[in-house]
Amino acid sequence: MNMFARWLHRQRCAICGQYMGKSGRSLIALETATGTGATWHLCEDCYVAVTRELERAELRTPARVRIAVGVVASERGQSARYSIWDERFWEQLSDRSQDRLLIWIFAIAFVVHAIAFMLVAAYVAIVH
Ligand SMILES: [Zn+2]
Repeated sequence: MNMFARWLHRQRCAICGQYMGKSGRSLIALETATGTGATWHLCEDCYVAVTRELERAELRTPARVRIAVGVVASERGQSARYSIWDERFWEQLSDRSQDRLLIWIFAIAFVVHAIAFMLVAAYVAIVH
């Protein structure tokens, strides 16, 4: 397979939608009660999240994998992402991410002010 064909056949994660490299995992759910199986191709992160959800929920239904994938998709899926202008974006941010974001805003504001101060100081030094 040439590189272009391989690029075309890259798989996206079924939950978060990001392209997967060699790290992609396949999650195969055999729902014996209905006789149907389902396969999800997941990235490593989503795969870990789904297996964790399976252990946490301890579901006993044949649809347990389907349910776990649904739960993880609602948390990490593309539809779970809001724009920065949406109030929900800030609600779903963890406290740590909020802190990190605030620190960055302060750091950028500080650097901008420091540069402005130096420009003014240089201007004053040159003029006088
Ligand atoms: Zn994913």
